Amino acid sequence: MTENRMPNLIAGERVHGDDVLDVTHPYDGSPAGSTTYATSDQVERAVAHAAAIAPEAARLPMHVRADALRAVSEAIKAHTDELAALITAENGKPMQWSRGEVGRAVSVFRWAAEETRQESGEAIRLDSDPGGEGRLAYVRRVPRGPVLAISPFNFPLNLVAHKLAPAVAVGAPVVLKPAPKTPLSGIRLGELIAEAGAEHGLPAGMVQVVNVKNEDAGSLTEDERLPVLSFTGSGPVGYSIRDQVPGKHVTLELGGNAGVLVAADADLDHAAKRIAMFSNYQAGQSCIGVQRVFAEQAAYDVFKDKLVAQVEALVTGDPKDEDVFVGPLIDDAAADKVEQWVDAAVEAGATVLTGGVREGTTYAPTVLEGVPHDVQAWCAEIFGPVLVVEPVPDVETGFAAINDSDFGLQAGVFTTDIATAFRAHRELEVGGVVIGDAPSYRADQMPYGGVKDSGVGREGIRYAMADFTYERVMVLTGL
Ligand code: NAD
Repeated sequence: MTENRMPNLIAGERVHGDDVLDVTHPYDGSPAGSTTYATSDQVERAVAHAAAIAPEAARLPMHVRADALRAVSEAIKAHTDELAALITAENGKPMQWSRGEVGRAVSVFRWAAEETRQESGEAIRLDSDPGGEGRLAYVRRVPRGPVLAISPFNFPLNLVAHKLAPAVAVGAPVVLKPAPKTPLSGIRLGELIAEAGAEHGLPAGMVQVVNVKNEDAGSLTEDERLPVLSFTGSGPVGYSIRDQVPGKHVTLELGGNAGVLVAADADLDHAAKRIAMFSNYQAGQSCIGVQRVFAEQAAYDVFKDKLVAQVEALVTGDPKDEDVFVGPLIDDAAADKVEQWVDAAVEAGATVLTGGVREGTTYAPTVLEGVPHDVQAWCAEIFGPVLVVEPVPDVETGFAAINDSDFGLQAGVFTTDIATAFRAHRELEVGGVVIGDAPSYRADQMPYGGVKDSGVGREGIRYAMADFTYERVMVLTGL
């Protein structure tokens, strides 16, 4: 087992700490692999290394960064089966979704390579105001400094890719602290980056991966040599870290309880299918998974029956089985939470239309109706395969119901009316509105992030690159 133990990646070396981190498969508790927590000396070495190579990294030519990123994309693709098996082993995601996640990471690095070559700066004539005669400003973007990346368990490869790729693209060293429940995919990605980077001229240790227990993570989060924090995870953790480090540049990609509106003019079969799918993919453990569904009264009964039928058609079970669509939750505590929140909703008067059954870490895809708005299954993030459905008299009430949330990540609107689509885009208080589909669509060319308790800042390759850099202007005088 020891020789298979995955390392921390520090200063270009594969190193092991003393404290073993065993990773288990969420479905049956079988071993998924292991790594170690870095010692405090190793953490210090990683931070010092990131700071030491930052000037060299910032000066890397565009073609070195772009070619290295392209090579990483190709390496991920070449290792699709291995990476997908690793994701399923540590996260419990069904194989079909794990392969999809690897494909996303391939495209993230490819986009990062392409965006890297787009940076050309900006020239601004200054003679538009008196005093600016003979002056020209030239703006270039400069890395803010080494990035600390903290990622959650639910997409252990791709959410890591969303941070590492733009950091390399702008020439910023990055230290990744992966989620302790699912560290293996991120470590493997770090290894692939190290190999491709060595071939294409990245400094050794441009990307470091350091396993640190949450209670010890202040050694990373509070260190001023890592001035940028890119955090994806839950709100309470994200905001509490941000409050501890007021001087840092912090991006928070947090949770949600995404709402969907089904207008009476929508294709109800399509809406039912997509909503069922994206309430239950990843066993509901997605920040943009569907949780609250509002359907216009005129279509409600028909739509509800179609939705329940679609949910009941989803295959639940062992995620290694190729037919399975809904696998386990990440651990017993997550399953406990879902069970308790559904039970509490039922006690408060909700009706279970389907599901509501737990077996080990697996929770059956569940549809609830008549859920009071003050119970957690409605107003908080359930992060499980559970949706609540209710009628609304018209689309405007539906918009208001979607907005009646502490969160604001993405929303979906099923309609065939273009005016409804534009009104939704104007009215919904979210970072993204998806028309004609569930809110769970994300592409790496577009900005992604939330408002309200869903976070601050944006990801998406170009937007994360902007986030990891600042504008530095040069004023030329006497021209
Ligand atoms: P979490 O907040 O428990 O943990 C996220 C990461 O923070 C993990 O790596 C964890 O080890 C680390 N962490 C925890 N305490 C820490 C501390 N004190 N200091 C430093 N790091 C610490 O979240 P999770 O359970 O892993 O993930 C689920 C959450 O992530 C959900 O709320 C989900 O909506 C959210 N999420 C958001 C997005 C997005 O892009 N907006 C994407 C995926 C998941």
